[in-house]
Amino acid sequence: MSPPRVKCPTCGRQIEWSEQAPFRPFCSERCKLIDLGAWLSEQRAIPGDTPAPSGDEIPPEER
Ligand SMILES: [Zn+2]
Repeated sequence: MSPPRVKCPTCGRQIEWSEQAPFRPFCSERCKLIDLGAWLSEQRAIPGDTPAPSGDEIPPEER
């Protein structure tokens, strides 16, 4: 009976889902940190089309 195999989400390498893989589903701590870093940078990504305040629109209260 062999442990199930999973693919490392970062590098695609197959690892065994067992006590031998402490960083599962990643193959190594490095891949785990890489994936975490990618996720964080995605969350912090600033959209390029952020609406900037312009003088064109006058709020209803001002009129
Ligand atoms: Zn990996």
